[in-house]
Amino acid sequence: MLSGRNLHGRGLHLSGIPRQDRTVAKVNPVIYLHVPFCGSFCTYCDFYSEICRSSQAFNDYADAVIGEINSRQKELSMNISAPNAVNTLYIGGGTPSVLPLDVLARIVRAIALSEAPFEEFTVEVNPEDIVEKGSEYVRGLLAIGVNRISMGVQSFDDGILRWMNRRHDGTRAIKAYRILRECGVRNISIDLIFGISQLTDEIWKDTIEEALALAPEHISAYQLSIEEGSALAKMVSDGRYVEASDEQCRRQYNFLCCTLKQSGYHHYEISNFAKPGFEAVHNSAYWRRVPYIGLGPGAHSLIGNVRSWNSQELPHRALNCEPLSDAPLKLSRNQDNLTTYSRSFETLSTEDIRVEKIMLSLRTDKGMEATELYSLAERYAVDSLLMEGALEKIGSRIRISESHLFVSDEIIRELI
Ligand code: SF4
Repeated sequence: MLSGRNLHGRGLHLSGIPRQDRTVAKVNPVIYLHVPFCGSFCTYCDFYSEICRSSQAFNDYADAVIGEINSRQKELSMNISAPNAVNTLYIGGGTPSVLPLDVLARIVRAIALSEAPFEEFTVEVNPEDIVEKGSEYVRGLLAIGVNRISMGVQSFDDGILRWMNRRHDGTRAIKAYRILRECGVRNISIDLIFGISQLTDEIWKDTIEEALALAPEHISAYQLSIEEGSALAKMVSDGRYVEASDEQCRRQYNFLCCTLKQSGYHHYEISNFAKPGFEAVHNSAYWRRVPYIGLGPGAHSLIGNVRSWNSQELPHRALNCEPLSDAPLKLSRNQDNLTTYSRSFETLSTEDIRVEKIMLSLRTDKGMEATELYSLAERYAVDSLLMEGALEKIGSRIRISESHLFVSDEIIRELI
């Protein structure tokens, strides 16, 4: 339910053209690039990332990714004829905005296979990086083709941000947003987090009001989850943090949904809200199981029924980065040859695909064709959830009703 894993709103948007007006028959697979660097370590995070400010590490990373791009040309140039396939690039992390612009530009040049711009090209940024690097950096992002920015604001409350160990405060988040707008970014998404025990309903209300005053095209809001290996998990086991109650989380989620709906946002996925026409194209492709290619350490790919994933090692020639976790880097110290990450594969079983289809489709307000859902789940389970009002039929499709999205995990469990 409301997984907090995707705290950057990955994993997985648009140049301002309403999605329904675009028809794409054959395009490349969607591409995700993982940037495994951060400027600080957030309390709740278990993502693969390293604190790093070394230009050698950044360039070694770029060399390794470009090597990967070259070795995967066949996949990258593959045309996908899936209905509603898209042509997107999403650079996430980690914190891609810690990378120098020239390093990022070098990788993007290697990824871009044609002169045609990506339909949606998103980069995740940290507010503090935007304020520090300023408008020249933002204009540089636009110049390499970025047409959507996803900014990890998380909160506008300084006490909550300090607890999260974020680098910015509320004022800097607003300043960063204004810089993006002044530079001409027309599609901005911001991430928020709720369900923190010390996040009172009043602070949450203020946070949503601050967000709405900025009028971003897209808002992703995730419930805090305790991820194994995070600093927060240690705080819970040491008794230094007590989880928010279900009742508090539900209240805050309901307030979020009602307020954003009243403000004209389309609630198109459990944790995602967009002004009409600004729904995330890239993430929506994941939920439809469109083939995707993940580049960089820790990135996952799906081509047909084969999933692959890159190992989580920072490519390097010298160990000059501080790992975020206690785990030692298992890399050689060869100064001459770049040590890079490796790739593993698995073929998904029919059962894996069935479960994935139900889980991903029912996250969205489109849900799934009723005939398909009946073919994938037990008929009595679907019918009884429809009777209870947990599922609803809209035309030929079935989806989770908005009033039950908070318990979507339980509903999906009953279907799989
Ligand atoms: S910015 Fe924070 S949440 Fe995002 S990857 Fe880095 S440590 Fe994790």
